[in-house]
Amino acid sequence: MPQKLSKRRSAADQDKIVVAALREAGRPVSAYELMEELKGSGVTAPPTVYRALQRLIDDGLAHRLESLNAFVACNHPHHTTKAVFAICDACGSVTEFDSAAAIKALQSWAKGSEFQVRAMTLELRGNCKSCVAAT
Ligand SMILES: [Zn+2]
Ligand SMILES: [Zn+2]
Repeated sequence: MPQKLSKRRSAADQDKIVVAALREAGRPVSAYELMEELKGSGVTAPPTVYRALQRLIDDGLAHRLESLNAFVACNHPHHTTKAVFAICDACGSVTEFDSAAAIKALQSWAKGSEFQVRAMTLELRGNCKSCVAAT
């Protein structure tokens, strides 16, 4: 593989740059939008960006929103369980919260049904409080 500019940065540096761009965006962004944001940062090669995103997700610093096919910086210092998201279709705001009860209910169903869970996605779509108030 040819040496690219992004190769000069360590993985830790790449992660910092990518998470900073996610925080800067302040909303869910697609990988494509993120790469636009990262222009000139030295972290631009798609495989590099995807690898950094995966590390950030594994470390709990970012999340992937399946229903939007987008990434968002984590707003929580710690998750006690998998994060749940409420996504406003009107303004695009994303609220993260933990719901141990919801996770437990789903896990216990899977266990009882001998369903092997590969991924669990918990996303509520609708309108946030301020958008409901504005209508
Ligand atoms: Zn989070
Ligand atoms: Zn809203």
